[in-house]
Parts: sequence; C-alpha cells; structure tokens
Amino acid sequence: MRIHPLVHALHALPLLLGATTTLGAQSPASVAPPAQIHVATGDARSYFTNAWWIETAEGLVLIDAMCLRSDVDRLIATLRKTGKPLAAVFITHPHADHFGGLTQLKEAFPKARIIATSATAGAMQGVHDQALQPGGWLAALGAEYERRLQRPDSLVASGSTLRIAGLTYTVRDYGPAEAENNSVVYLHELSALFTGDLTVAGGAYFIGEQHSRLAQLALPKLLVDFPGAVTSYSGHFAPMPLAAVVQENTEQVRFFRLAAAAEFADSSSLTPSGVLNAAAMRRLTRTYAAFLRGRNTYGMGAVAVAQMNASGVVAEMRDAAAQVRVRPIHQQVRAGLRPLRYLLGRWRGTQFAADTSATATTASAPRALDIISEFVPVLGGAAYEGRMTASGYRFVLTLSYDVAQQRYRVAALDDVSGLLDIFEGILGDDGSLVVDNVRPGTFYANPSGVRVHTRLTFAPAAPDLFRLDVAESVDGGTTWRTVTQYQASQRLVP
Ligand SMILES: [Zn+2]
Repeated sequence: MRIHPLVHALHALPLLLGATTTLGAQSPASVAPPAQIHVATGDARSYFTNAWWIETAEGLVLIDAMCLRSDVDRLIATLRKTGKPLAAVFITHPHADHFGGLTQLKEAFPKARIIATSATAGAMQGVHDQALQPGGWLAALGAEYERRLQRPDSLVASGSTLRIAGLTYTVRDYGPAEAENNSVVYLHELSALFTGDLTVAGGAYFIGEQHSRLAQLALPKLLVDFPGAVTSYSGHFAPMPLAAVVQENTEQVRFFRLAAAAEFADSSSLTPSGVLNAAAMRRLTRTYAAFLRGRNTYGMGAVAVAQMNASGVVAEMRDAAAQVRVRPIHQQVRAGLRPLRYLLGRWRGTQFAADTSATATTASAPRALDIISEFVPVLGGAAYEGRMTASGYRFVLTLSYDVAQQRYRVAALDDVSGLLDIFEGILGDDGSLVVDNVRPGTFYANPSGVRVHTRLTFAPAAPDLFRLDVAESVDGGTTWRTVTQYQASQRLVP
C-alpha cells in the first residue's frame, strides 16, 4: 500500500495511534524443521504490513522490512533472540511499509545482504522522497518514520536463484501492478511464494497507482510460473493457497475495471472533455465500497480504499482512453438501465409479510426478516445484478433492458425453490419498475395445484431508499394480491 492523503486524517485519530502492534512468531504446523516460517505484523499505521522470516539452523532470511521504527526495533529484538545471523533481506516492492525499516535492520545486522531486483530498488528513492514531502509518510508518522533510506546492496536479475542459509530462493519480477514494480520470492524447499503486495489474502486489492490492467495480466501468470500446491505469503494478512488468492484478487481487479469501464461508456457520466463527472465518481466509489465490504481494508475503511482505487483506475483509463476496449454496449441499453440506478449499492432492509387474509384482530406484528441486499452493474454495465440475503434464503436477480422490445426483463433465482423465474414489464410513471411472469409463463403451482404468477415492483423511496413489493395472482394476472414487501431501511455504503 502507498499512503494517500485520505489516510492522514485517520492517522491523526488517537485511537489508531494508540493501537497495539502485533509482533510475534508463528510457525504453521505444516512447516517442519529444519526450516520455519515466522511473521511479524505491523499495526494499522503501516497497514498491517507483514515481514516474513525464515529460520534454519544456519541463519535467518527476512522478506520485507516493515516500516514503523518501533515495529522494526521489536523485529530486531525477535531476530536476535534466535541467536542466529540475519543472512539476507529481500524487498518485494517499492512501498515504504515494506522497505522503511531497512536502515535500522542494516545497522543492527551489517552483514545482512539486502536483495532486490533493479526495478524494485530503482523505484524506492522516488517513493521515499515522496514520503518526506508534506502529506507523506513522515508527516503522518512523525518519529516513527525513518528519514534515511537504506538502498538494497545486492541487486539480482529477475529469475535469479540464490542459495541462502541452507535454502533455495528464486526472485522474479512481474512489473507494475499493485506497485511500480512487484517482485516475488519463491522458497523452493517449502513451496512458499512470498508475493509482497502482488497478492493480498482477504484484503482489498490496491490499484491506486494506475496499473490495474497490468495487475490483471500479472496475477494469472503467477499460477503459470508457480504451479501445484504453492502457498502464498502476502505482504498483508494471512497465508493462503496461491491458486485461491490469485483467483480472488483477479476477480477484484476485474470488478474494479468493469465498473469503471461502464461509467466511461455512459455518455451521461462524462464531462465534455471526457472526464468522469462528480456524480459518476461518487457512484463508482459507492459501487467499489459496496464490493469491498467484508474485505480487510487496512484499517482505512471500505470508502477510503474505494476512493483511492476509483481515482487510480479512472486516471488509468482516461490516460489510456485510446487503448481501453470497452465492450460496445448499445447506448440505449444504458439509457434503459439508468432509471434503475437508485438500486445500486448495499442496503440493509426488512421484509414484511403482507398477508391480507390474516385476521386483523391482533396488533399486526408482521414476521419481519432482516435482509442485506446489494445491486451492482455487471458485464461492463450491460445489466445490473442484485443479491438479497436473509438467514434462510438467498436470492439472485438480474435486471436487463431489451432495446428491441422496449421492455425490462428480470431473472430471479432463489435457493429455496430453485426456480429461475423470468419477469417482464415496463417503467411506471412514478419511476417504479413493474414486472410479472405472466407472459414468460414461469408460474409455480401451489399445493392445491393452482398456477400462481408473481409480480415484482421496484420503486424508489425517499430518502434515497427503495422498496420491492411482491404480489401474486391465481387468475393468470387479472387480479393481484401483495404478499411481501421489502423495504430498504439503510444504505450501508454512502
Ligand atoms: Zn503493502
């Protein structure tokens, strides 16, 4: 991760400044002597950066150098406790949370080689200079940031294999992706791949440096270069099988790019000079933040990371406008979907049974069901996809616009009935979308064998919320009775 102006305000909070640092030795049970992998982890101020270190009878090898001076002091004390020499430090990429501790480490262990490829080493100075500028790491961290830069003293070519402290390491460059260059270090004997920030396990993938296209290409290449049962040790968070983390991270980057491409392809999102307008940027940020919910966001929150990624990918796509291949989706499709944009986002809501046949004698306490719903543009903005999740059932919706027939079509699939239900309809004068399954004919049969058709009404609701009413008909669509109402009550992502 690279620091961003937004982060500074967060760092000023005493809560974060007082956060404790987790620093300790952990040995995965699967790793048997004579080599053990340990980790030291920083706190939110350094985005929970990891320094992995490998211990053999002959000595220690460190992957990345942490950043905060107090973290590095503790790391040095931990390494010293082993009584073994630190043979080498590999630097995976030129971000200060991974190289900031080199000066202290070199002072403590002068004999340790500091190894990097020239692409990683070459970019460190620029990042460090920026860290000393107003608004940089130094301003955010004060005395915790080391002003002196220690450069790698052992440059190796990408693809080099080295024998250090009894083990075999291969270093490989993947070029610009999460950072200006991303190297990985493969430890052959343990099938362990130290990926720096080229992968991130369980966290938000950072594309703020405008290399999302290259990240999308680099990630799958890892699986080609390191096939089989390889464990990825990322620069932040826990180890994870390489194949799983690559797949997850690739999905993230794909989502970021698709959502941004959808905005660029919509003429109503652009200023006359071809830049995304403020409304489009807000929408994109909101979409990203919704997507990032549930992922670790380095203590910054989903919205802050969403803003960093949105500004990065938008700048990247704008600069490369001529090369960006946005799938040509008919402007009329986008125009058709535009009135449904109020659905986009992540919501908390309640579903009420609206059974009018129930006796009205009791104070009606409808069986309320808490539901989380999320609507995002998919396929580059060609359709919207909604997921509604309650305890007990899940519901996937696809909303599309048929230009030829000038009508909306909604596909709905739930994990209770397993019925892929197709609805068709049009927009009402009040902006609501009313679709039913009479014409498509995807009724279900009730226990008495009667054909039951369903009608869905999506309607915007003040303030900035929406409602979904579900009605049923047992006479082929002549009369309808509302059976359920879903009311979004809170937008979880601003
Ligand atoms: Zn990082």
